[in-house]
Amino acid sequence: MESVAGVVEGAAVATGAAYLLSKYLMKHLPRDAAELFKAGEKDLLGQVYKAMERMDSSMKNQPPSVIFAKACAATLVACWAFRTVTKASDATLENGVIQTILGGLKKIPGISGLVQSEKEKIYKKLQDQVYGQRYGDGESVPKFTELPAKPFTFDECMETIEKIDSRDEKYAYEDTKLSGAVYFKNKEHADFQTKVYARFIATNIIHADQYPSVARMDAELISMTASMVKDPAGKVIPCGSVTSGGSESILCAMKASRDWWLANNSYGLFRNLLTTLPWRKSSNLPEIIIADSAHAAYIKAVDYYNLKMVTIRCDDTTGFRLTADAVKKRITANTAIIVCSAPSYPHGVFDDIEGIGKLAAERGIAVHVDACLGGYVIPFAKEAGFDRPAMHFGIEGVTSMSLDTHKYGLAHKGTSVVLYRHKEIRKHQFTSVTDWTGGLYISPTMAGSRSGAVVAAAWASLLTVGRSGFVEQTRTLLTLAEKLVEGLEKIPGIRVLGKPDSCLVAFGAKDPKAIDIHKVNDAMTKRGWHLASLQRPAGLHMCLAPSHTAAMVDNMVRDLEECIAEVKKGPKNGEEGMAPIYGMAESLPDRHIIGDVLVAYQEAALDS
Ligand SMILES: *Cc1c(COP(=O)(O)O)cnc(C)c1O
Repeated sequence: MESVAGVVEGAAVATGAAYLLSKYLMKHLPRDAAELFKAGEKDLLGQVYKAMERMDSSMKNQPPSVIFAKACAATLVACWAFRTVTKASDATLENGVIQTILGGLKKIPGISGLVQSEKEKIYKKLQDQVYGQRYGDGESVPKFTELPAKPFTFDECMETIEKIDSRDEKYAYEDTKLSGAVYFKNKEHADFQTKVYARFIATNIIHADQYPSVARMDAELISMTASMVKDPAGKVIPCGSVTSGGSESILCAMKASRDWWLANNSYGLFRNLLTTLPWRKSSNLPEIIIADSAHAAYIKAVDYYNLKMVTIRCDDTTGFRLTADAVKKRITANTAIIVCSAPSYPHGVFDDIEGIGKLAAERGIAVHVDACLGGYVIPFAKEAGFDRPAMHFGIEGVTSMSLDTHKYGLAHKGTSVVLYRHKEIRKHQFTSVTDWTGGLYISPTMAGSRSGAVVAAAWASLLTVGRSGFVEQTRTLLTLAEKLVEGLEKIPGIRVLGKPDSCLVAFGAKDPKAIDIHKVNDAMTKRGWHLASLQRPAGLHMCLAPSHTAAMVDNMVRDLEECIAEVKKGPKNGEEGMAPIYGMAESLPDRHIIGDVLVAYQEAALDS
């Protein structure tokens, strides 16, 4: 709606200027010419002048205080109306016409009651489902909602744990049926990290002076990671910070990028003036451009940091890639950040980092490369003998990058690395507190205290895999991915979504009406597989991990073929599993209802 605000402002300024100019002309033109000008029917300036004259004469007998009060009231009403209209049209633009109408309808008392009672039914179902998963029927372990009056002995506690975790998925280090989720190299490597972890359980990196060991590991984890994506020409020396995971890396990068951009772009006199105009309240927020395939963590960042989100839909026409052309059309004076995935979580494809980087560099916009998934894989692709897109700080415009040690860095969960092109950006990630009565304080990330144990384990993971180990891992994963693509392409009715650049392969039905891929997934789940569900378009993906083998790929393709046949001829028993939920999500125009269901699910998960 900014463009509308701009047009209205422009028109107001132009009218004012026209009036002043016409007054000036009236005063300084020779008398005849002035008379002619005054009479000019078609002349725009003359029209403006006449309109103003008419207004003057109609207000001739009013005291100035009345005119002033009327002008104030008119301005207020105009601002209020403008904001109401822009709010409604913004909502319509964002959510679509149907959704806006539905939103309005739901406010009508009778309908809202009906919606509420339907919702409650769904909530109850979700609660039952979560409760059943956790406690089962007749489970012998009582629910702990208060501290036990008498403490458990260690043995008693361990017995209880053994009963509770008997319901968990058992992790097999070889040949799992999980997509992603666990990324250990092998049992020895995972156990070794546990040993390192145990050694550092008492450490806290915020007290770097007391624990120089973990403080140095923290810094070295950054350097080792930076060395993988450094500028081949050596002109850029990236710096960074260790976080608790991919999402925190992204949140840190978004905060630093926003504030870096604001520091360089926000203090123009004109921009400040515009933000003070009453009808401009929300329209000068820094904007972030993302693909609809970008990770959910960016939407969290929009939520947390008061950014304006500009989403670009990526589909078959670009192979699910975000292209520079598409981005260029959406860049405005407020664009602060553009996100490129390397690769994207849904489809495993790279966005056009080089093209987008170039656009951004010319305009001083930050570009974050999300290599949470591709991080410890694609930097080694060339050495492993594969031709894959480049991802390093030598690419013009790339200002930050996130790489997850707890994914393909093969570390325990709980660490990730965020990197920056230079310290000028990274410093905006920090919060320094100078006047706190608790002392002088600075912390680099969202966390205060940070366990040194997870950092030590991740550091040990990188050391014991080594460069040759990562090259080997990349060769294995990319070979497996190619095998999986080949297998999937042979299944009639199935197509691979995009052209996978990394080791994550997405696929869907060629004709969604012929095969309900989410039902196929439910059938696969019954056979022990855990594939990820995608929507818009409906699909599934398998994220290959070190525990996967060529035999697993063959099994998966065979099971898929069998499950597709099962679903095709099977009865329409669509009541179980995730298929009905995705079916509903795909068909419901009202996204608020789905949002409410997600909240209900989260509440059921948090309340014991
Ligand atoms: C996993 C992932 C993230 C977020 O990582 P978490 O560690 O789950 O917070 C971000 N982006 C991409 C592309 C990912 O695959």
